[in-house]
Amino acid sequence: MPEIKVLPKAVAELIAAGEVVERPASVIKELVENSIDAKSTMITVEIQNGGVTFMRVTDNGCGIATDNVATAFLRHATSKVSTEDDLNEIMTLGFRGEALAAISSVSRVEMLTKTKESPVGTLYRAEGGNNITVADAGCPDGTTIIVRDLFFNTPARMKFLKKDVAEGNAVAAVLQHIALSHPEIAFRFIRDGKSVFTTPGDGKLMSAIYAVCGREFASTLIPVEGELGGIRVTGYTCKPVHCRPKKNAQFVFLNGRYVRSGTVATALDTAYKNSAMVGRFPAAVLHLTVPYGAVDINVHPAKTEVRFSDERRIFDCVHFAVKNAISAGDVRPQANLSQGGYKYRMTAEEYRQTVIPEVAKSADKTLETYGKMLERAAKNAQRPTFSDIAPKSVNSYNVGTSTAVEPKEDKPPHYVPATLAEPHAEQPEEVVAKSAEPETEINYTELLAERIKKQLEDIEFDEKPVEEPVCRVAEDDQPKPIRYIGEVFSTYILAQMGEGLFLIDKHAAHERILFNKFKSEISVDPQMLLVPQQVALKEDHQAVVDNLEIINRAGFEIEDFGDDTVLVRAVPAALTGEDVTDLVLELGRNLSDKAAVEIEKLERIFETMSCRAAVKAGNLSSDEELKVLAETVLSNRDIMYCPHGRPVAVEITRREIEKQFGRV
Ligand code: ADP
Ligand code: MG
Repeated sequence: MPEIKVLPKAVAELIAAGEVVERPASVIKELVENSIDAKSTMITVEIQNGGVTFMRVTDNGCGIATDNVATAFLRHATSKVSTEDDLNEIMTLGFRGEALAAISSVSRVEMLTKTKESPVGTLYRAEGGNNITVADAGCPDGTTIIVRDLFFNTPARMKFLKKDVAEGNAVAAVLQHIALSHPEIAFRFIRDGKSVFTTPGDGKLMSAIYAVCGREFASTLIPVEGELGGIRVTGYTCKPVHCRPKKNAQFVFLNGRYVRSGTVATALDTAYKNSAMVGRFPAAVLHLTVPYGAVDINVHPAKTEVRFSDERRIFDCVHFAVKNAISAGDVRPQANLSQGGYKYRMTAEEYRQTVIPEVAKSADKTLETYGKMLERAAKNAQRPTFSDIAPKSVNSYNVGTSTAVEPKEDKPPHYVPATLAEPHAEQPEEVVAKSAEPETEINYTELLAERIKKQLEDIEFDEKPVEEPVCRVAEDDQPKPIRYIGEVFSTYILAQMGEGLFLIDKHAAHERILFNKFKSEISVDPQMLLVPQQVALKEDHQAVVDNLEIINRAGFEIEDFGDDTVLVRAVPAALTGEDVTDLVLELGRNLSDKAAVEIEKLERIFETMSCRAAVKAGNLSSDEELKVLAETVLSNRDIMYCPHGRPVAVEITRREIEKQFGRV
């Protein structure tokens, strides 16, 4: 048995650092949270090379008094907690008192800090927690901290870092969350010398969203407000037509902190059920306020996942607030025909400007893929530098102009803090050159070179932005006479209402009407089959058996028959004549999604039923039938989408038609 030894202090510190400092994003999170705790109103963050070689956080907060600076860098040094009671009432962000110690043990740190009361500031410098210098320095009120060469003394950890782009993106995500949770603080984020975003700090959530996520994103949002049993939810969610193919635009904050919560995500998604297309997800920025102590919130200190003692209440609060927001702003999609419209009396100049580029564009489309390949080849042929690899910005929309400012000539240049009005961004070369100095045994330059090589192996290219469906909204909802016109392609009903010509998808419309009916009449008529039928289900058998109670509530009579089969004795009257096997197989498929909560399961059953029972596109329908469908659809605002989220009706306005004929 080897001897048991107490680890030397330095080694113990490195191990502890691993818990707090995992990557540049975790450093930035700790530093910015410190700045927020220090009551700053302006915080500037600059990074280079994904933060690996350079990170700087500048704030205008309370600063640290000269006597306390060195102490702040010791482990368990904190001004925020002194007793166990404090721990129970933690309102500040960081509380472990080890961030500064951990960060400085694995990087080269410089801090400049000054309190308002003190005439002179303090400079603190350390490398890997050693060679500590503390000196007087002239600087503005507040704190600037620079962290260079992260993990320069722990190469093993450096190897775990991802590519600069990925590390930089993680920093951007952290800052995005922090900026959205503190609209009252003006944040500025500069990445490789380029301004990525600047929030105004005017206290308005919308201003922060606009600055951080872009104008386009902001324009798709509608406000959310709700309260239930002491839980408050405010913020914004998107209109159903703006749901996106990915879930990556859902930001949830709990008492001002970014969190992830399965319950909130499900509540949000189910609120869009039947309004958004299947496979599309809402974008939302939601702030939840939950009284401290009233709800048992279990937050893992290092993770963002959160659990509530009363998940149901959280679910209901979010679900209904979001649902209300959606239905308040819901309108039918309007067809926009103007793009392809005939231009009345087009001049030669107009022709040159509109038609020719259109034709050229479609020809270009075929060449586009080829061009992309050439571009990629050209990019690979040049040796990219760090700044080439780093994307220009994380957002499509940048506030302000790029502000790459040369470092001032002051000596020594590193001690110049970024002023909040005019941040300085050092040139990447300068940083690389600095870290090339042979200061430690580990060759940092070599490590960096290795990273560059690794990054060159697979450069990622930007994804094509997702195009949002073109849709505009109409405001007035006065009841107007509805005129049935006819049917085209055995699929679409034509009807006129007010100044609009409506195309109604007869299957989608019927499906939705039946769905609403099934939902409102909780006990649906079972119709006994003449002969009970056995259905073999394979992998979905369990899903059906587990939900028999709900299925039977919807008008079926089904029982488990063992061996992956079920016995069907009755089906809902609306489904008489349907192929029983197909119907049950479809039920099984729709129910096998484990995440579905109970209400949702019943909806899924109704969904299957209404789809089955509705008239199909291509089927022959009588005028009377279609007329009733058209009238029902157009006079009911809640018949907007089929249960799968496709629109039931599209409006072509009179104006749009007149535009096509050059009348307006
Ligand atoms: P914690 O934040 O958990 O207290 P840290 O190691 O992050 O631990 O910071 C130690 C202490 O240093 C803080 O309690 C605070 O007093 C001081 N401090 C750190 N950053 C700042 C800052 N930007 N402005 C003012 N004080 C700071
Ligand atoms: Mg802290």
